[in-house]
Amino acid sequence: MNENKNETEEIAGNFIRDIIAEDLAQGRAKTVITRFPPEPNGYLHLGHAKSICLNFGLAQEFNGQCHLRFDDTNPIKEEMEFIEAIQEDVRWLGFDWREHLYYASDYFETLYLWAENLIEAGKAYVDDLSADEIREYRGTLTEPGKNSPHRDRAPEENLDLFRRMRAGEFTDGARVLRAKIDMASGNINLRDPVIYRILNAEHPRTGKTWSIYPTYDFAHGQSDAIEGITHSLCTLEFEDHRPLYDWLTENLPVPTRPKQIEFARLNLDYTVLSKRLLTELVTGGHVEGWDDPRMPTISGLRRRGLPAAAIIDFAQRIGITKSGSTVEMAFLEHCTREILNQTAERRLAVLRPLKVVIDNYPQGETEELAAANHPGDESVGTRTILFSREIFIEQDDFMEDPPKKFFRMSPGREVRLRYGYFITCTDVIKDAAGNVTELRCSYDPETRGGNAPDGRKVKGTIHWVSAEHAITAEVRLYDYLFHKPVPGSESGNFIDDLNPGSLDVLSGCKFEPSLLDLAPGVAVQFERQGYFCPDPTSTTDKPVFNQTIGLRDSWAKEKAKG
Ligand code: ATP
Ligand code: MG
Repeated sequence: MNENKNETEEIAGNFIRDIIAEDLAQGRAKTVITRFPPEPNGYLHLGHAKSICLNFGLAQEFNGQCHLRFDDTNPIKEEMEFIEAIQEDVRWLGFDWREHLYYASDYFETLYLWAENLIEAGKAYVDDLSADEIREYRGTLTEPGKNSPHRDRAPEENLDLFRRMRAGEFTDGARVLRAKIDMASGNINLRDPVIYRILNAEHPRTGKTWSIYPTYDFAHGQSDAIEGITHSLCTLEFEDHRPLYDWLTENLPVPTRPKQIEFARLNLDYTVLSKRLLTELVTGGHVEGWDDPRMPTISGLRRRGLPAAAIIDFAQRIGITKSGSTVEMAFLEHCTREILNQTAERRLAVLRPLKVVIDNYPQGETEELAAANHPGDESVGTRTILFSREIFIEQDDFMEDPPKKFFRMSPGREVRLRYGYFITCTDVIKDAAGNVTELRCSYDPETRGGNAPDGRKVKGTIHWVSAEHAITAEVRLYDYLFHKPVPGSESGNFIDDLNPGSLDVLSGCKFEPSLLDLAPGVAVQFERQGYFCPDPTSTTDKPVFNQTIGLRDSWAKEKAKG
C-alpha cells in the first residue's frame, strides 16, 4: 500500500469484530452468519455501503456467510425497481450472498402464526384505538403510558378479530395488533408496541394476499431468528428496540436467538444520507435520478467513475464505533484518488480548447508519438498519439501577458508539448472583441520526444490533442450537491442549501480518439486535470464524460498541515 500513510489513515478499529471473535472463542457462537437487510424503498447510498462492507466483510473474515434480506414489510413504498437495483449495487461492490437471498415477505405466514401464538398466550391483543389515540395513551419519556380500554380483551375475541383483520374485513388503520408488555415501562418501545397493522395494499411480491403487515419490530428479529443469524448488526437508533427484539425472541417459538449489536451510522458532510431525503431530490427533479453522479448513491458514484475498491477502502478506514460523527467527503475523495492514481490510465484531453497552428510543420503531415499509459507502471505500456500541424491546447495554458511564475505558453516563450516537441508562440490572433482565438507557433524538429539535443530546458509542459484527429465530446464537471456541510442546518430545509453550481456542462471538448474505447464508469486520468469516465449515455457520435474527481487532494493537504 501507500508508504505515506500516516497514523490517522490506518485501518480504524471495529469493536464488533472483537465481540464476534470473543463469542467464537467462548463457544457462544459456532459460526458467523450476518445479514444486510435493506428496505426496497430506494437506492442504496454510502451509509448502506458501510453496513454492506461490515456485514459481508465480517462473514468473509470469519468464514461465515452473509444473507441479503429484503425487509419488505411496507408495501406502500416498495418497488421491484429498487429490489433489482439493490442487488446490482451489492454485486458491484464485490459481495456475494450466494444462495442466501431472502425476503421478510417469505416469512409472512410464519410471522402470522407466531402472532396468533402470542394472542393465545395472552401476550398480544387487538386494539381499536386510532393511531392518534395510541400515541396519546403511550405517555412520554417522563410519564408512564396508560392502558388501552381494549387491553384486556379475551384471547378468543382477539383471535377472532385478528383473523378478520387478515381476511380484509376492516379498513386501513381501523385496528392494530399490539404486544402486551408494559405500558409503564421506562422504554417506550415496550409500551405495548404495535406488531401488525391493516394495509389493504398490493405488495410487490405477495400481491393482494395480505391485508395486514407486520411492523419492522415484529418482522426483523424473527426473520433473523428464522435464518439463524448469529449477529444482527444495526445502527444506533435501534438500541432502544433491543429489549423488544429480545422480548419477542424469548416469547416466540423461534429456532435461534440472534444477538443484536448497534453501531454508529455514517454521516458525511456536504450531502444527505437518508432515503427519504434522497427520494425528495429525485421526485422533486433536483437531480437527474437516483444515479445522478452528484448523488451519494452507489449507482451515482459508479456512474461518476468511483471504483468499488475506493468505496470499500473508505468503509474500512472509517471504522466501526458506537459514537456517531461526521466523516468528511474530502476523505472519500482522498481514498478515491489513492486508488485511481495507481490504477487509472492516462490520456490527453483538452476541456476548453484553443487552436494552435504550427507554421513550420509540413501541411498535411501526421506523425505518431508514443505516450505512456501510466507513468508509474510500465507494464500497462504505451499507446500511439497523433501529431499534426494544428493542435488544441487548454485556453488557460496561454497568457498573453503572464505574471512571473506562469511557466506555460506566452508569446516568445518555449514550452514542451507532452510526449511531443518544444514549441514557441510567435503570434496571437484575436477576434473583434479582443478574445484570443488562435495562436501561431513554431516547433523545433530536433526536440521530438520532449528533449533538446543541446540540453536546453523548458519550464512548462502542456497537454494537447491533434485538431484533425480529435474527437469532440461533452464533459460534465461536478461540485458538491450542497454548499453547506450540514444541508438544512440553518433554514430547516435541506433543499435550500442545494449548490446551484453543482453541475457545469462543457461542450466542444477535444479528446484523443482512444477515449472512445472506454467502457462507462471506467475512469482515466486526463493528464494535468483529473479523473473522468464515459457516462452510460455516451456514444461514438456523441461522447459524454463525467468528471470523477480533480487532482488536488484537499484532505491530504489539511492533514499534512496537522
Ligand atoms: P435511510 O435512513 O436512508 O432510509 P434505513 O436505515 O431506513 O436508511 P434500510 O434500507 O432499512 O435503510 O437500511 C438497511 C441497512 O443499512 C440497515 O441495517 C441500516 O442500519 C443500514 N444503514 C442505513 N443507513 C446507514 C448509515 N448511514 N450508516 C450505516 N448503516 C446504515
Ligand atoms: Mg429502515
